[in-house]
Amino acid sequence: MSEVPRAGYALASALREATTRLQAAGIDNGRSDAVTLAAHLLRSGCGEVERLAILGAPTPTGFDDLVARRAQRVPLQHLTGRAAFRHLELSVGPGVFVPRPETEVLVDLALLALDALRAATAASRPGSGPARLVDLCTGSGAIALSVAHERPATRVFAVELSAQAHAFARANADRLGLDIDLRQGDATTAFDDLLGRVDVVVTNPPYIPDGAVPIDPEVAGHDPAVALYGGGDGLELPMRLIERAALLLRPGGVLLVEHGELQGGDLRARLQPSDPRDLSQTPAAQSGYGAATTWQDVHDHRDLTGRPRVLRAVRAREIMERTAGEQDSGGLADEGASSTRAAAAETC
Ligand code: GLN
Repeated sequence: MSEVPRAGYALASALREATTRLQAAGIDNGRSDAVTLAAHLLRSGCGEVERLAILGAPTPTGFDDLVARRAQRVPLQHLTGRAAFRHLELSVGPGVFVPRPETEVLVDLALLALDALRAATAASRPGSGPARLVDLCTGSGAIALSVAHERPATRVFAVELSAQAHAFARANADRLGLDIDLRQGDATTAFDDLLGRVDVVVTNPPYIPDGAVPIDPEVAGHDPAVALYGGGDGLELPMRLIERAALLLRPGGVLLVEHGELQGGDLRARLQPSDPRDLSQTPAAQSGYGAATTWQDVHDHRDLTGRPRVLRAVRAREIMERTAGEQDSGGLADEGASSTRAAAAETC
């Protein structure tokens, strides 16, 4: 990819040409992507790029190459090496799932759960230790690192199967100076050391049905398949993670699971079976936790575009009767609907 520099090639016209080219490639926000790529090369902000364009500044070297790759639908975040998520800028690239704005709602709900827990324990268990949150299938670490950043008193644990994605999460934690207990391994068996001791379990698992190839080339061709496809109808792996969460959560602990916009009803039905014996063979049931009464307060929450995308359920308190000597604070308060916050600006 060699680019022949065009002497004096003005940034303003380069941005206009790039916008047209990117739109022709099916990218709606072509201007925004063009400005983001220029900002990346100039190591500046998007506003600064617009200012330089007005002032007649030249086009940075490498701009046309980046625009050409973006026109081939290489994800913008792979070209810049960065993805904005809430208040953080995460390193991403080939081999790791690019975090999405809709997952920011999952973090909102996790923070609400942690805050309710803090209020409840301050009253009933003064001096108790930090709350524990587990992020299953952490990918780049987006959820876990955001919680560690925004609620530093929380003890955050995260696990990722893919060695490549785990390396991104590790690098992100180190670069951002955020202390999380990050492990590499199978999330469906992870954290044997935390059974029954976790306050909040969050996961944005792979949930796309096998064979339902995403329309966007950025997703289909560049996000790792292991992060996308959940097996069968898409919910096979999410259900195994939910069973694991049942074992990890303490009574009253909160589970939050991102899902596809058409999967909420199905997931709710599986967590609240009309025949309780439906779940009697699950690992949670077999280990004595009683799956028939595993979950209560099962609700779906909407993303910022109004689509139902996050299932929230509370670990039923019956567990108390089955685990002698386990302490229970009385559980989390019911936080109600998700808050909505402006997503961090991902692009220009
Ligand atoms: N949300 C993903 C997508 O946009 C699907 C898989 C996931 O998030 N876990 O394609």
